[in-house]
Amino acid sequence: MNWLTNYIKPKLESLVKKKDVPKNLWIKCLCGNMLYYKDYEKSLGVCNECGTHMRLPSDSRLKFLLDDGKYEKIKVPVNKIDPLSFKDKKKYKDRIKEARKKTKEDDAVVIAEGKIEGIDVILVVFDFSFMGGSMGISVGDNILKASEISVKKNIPLIIIPSSGGARMQEGILSLMQMPRTIAAIQKVKENKIPYIVVLSDPTTGGVCASFAMLGDILIAEKGATIGFAGRRVIEQTIKETIPDNFQTADYLLEHGMIDMVVHRKDLKQKIYKILKFIVKKN
Ligand SMILES: [Zn+2]
Repeated sequence: MNWLTNYIKPKLESLVKKKDVPKNLWIKCLCGNMLYYKDYEKSLGVCNECGTHMRLPSDSRLKFLLDDGKYEKIKVPVNKIDPLSFKDKKKYKDRIKEARKKTKEDDAVVIAEGKIEGIDVILVVFDFSFMGGSMGISVGDNILKASEISVKKNIPLIIIPSSGGARMQEGILSLMQMPRTIAAIQKVKENKIPYIVVLSDPTTGGVCASFAMLGDILIAEKGATIGFAGRRVIEQTIKETIPDNFQTADYLLEHGMIDMVVHRKDLKQKIYKILKFIVKKN
């Protein structure tokens, strides 16, 4: 009766229930392929038909990257500033509330301390489903905190961005997170501590234009979109048509902007090999 409970029941449930009940359901890839949730988890969110690396919730990332899926989350006080009292279709405050409810996280990033094949690391992971992974004051606070811990404990810092850029609802304060995070990363570098960035889909806007491109080693996940301004804006500015693969991980590798493009299943081992080499040398 396994196929009844594993396949038929979830399919029926997916027809009846609302979309945001993830377990035991089917996940649809951009290519149209339907992945059963258990297979999706097993493949680390990579489509088994077309190889698309889907965006992951922060917990899933931490679980597959850190030894035994174990880690300690480090909390930073929640930012309550709404400098513009921003409102579009909804109030900014309400959007934040909804995002917190949906992701069960305080903001678009999570800091975790754990080990990669026995090497201590501080990880900062973005969750795109929290307001497009946008960088506001809270994200800045978290990156500062993670840098401080990295320096204090002398352990490598790894950041995995997945972000549309600065959080416009916080106006100029969101843009100020660009120099703020760069200064934080500079401290890590001055202390000769390894700083690795794993560019995941998408890394764009103010995130791409600040701490995300400053890694000692820049790794990109396969197929990730990485860039500052959008394609159309650039085409209109330079009055030229740009290639189809523009702003993709492979394109950036070809043009020397990043060090490597890695399949998600190899990511942990790749980071480990880099860390082993650098940490041993130090
Ligand atoms: Zn697919």
